[in-house]
Amino acid sequence: MSHNEPSIFTKIINREIPADIVYEDEVAIAFFTIEPVNPGHTLVVPKAPSVNILDIEPSVLSHLMHVAQNVARALIETSLGSGVNIHINNCADAGQEVFHTHIHVIPRLPSDEAFKPPRHTTLTTEDRLQIAAKLRNHLDPTT
Ligand code: AMP
Repeated sequence: MSHNEPSIFTKIINREIPADIVYEDEVAIAFFTIEPVNPGHTLVVPKAPSVNILDIEPSVLSHLMHVAQNVARALIETSLGSGVNIHINNCADAGQEVFHTHIHVIPRLPSDEAFKPPRHTTLTTEDRLQIAAKLRNHLDPTT
């Protein structure tokens, strides 16, 4: 699918396809994923299309995080989770499949073994200093 066509999430926002919507306001919508890690796994999605964290407007991202916090608290209060992961996949190489920004709010249960522990890499001090310098040169100091 081209990134310019309406995404599956825009179709949900426009009520062209069904979804289990649990929250909606002028800027955001939240509904259950069709592939939940655990019951209550919710996606928080902006109504204005953006591809991912790289192009979304910062105030919209901030609002999405506020909604994700609301969902996370509700998951804990309803005992759907005793912990919560907040997860965003950005770009295909990071596992993004739907190219309309979304935050996964994933309820976690004791010993559910939902995710494998991440692989770690080892860096020399020189590597770290070089990488940090490179990154600093690209970071916007006015964020
Ligand atoms: P990601 O890999 O982060 O792009 O995740 C895409 C998410 O969208 C996955 O959790 C999918 O199960 C979910 N998804 C795809 N189609 C739908 C749909 N029609 N309704 C709800 N969730 C969907």
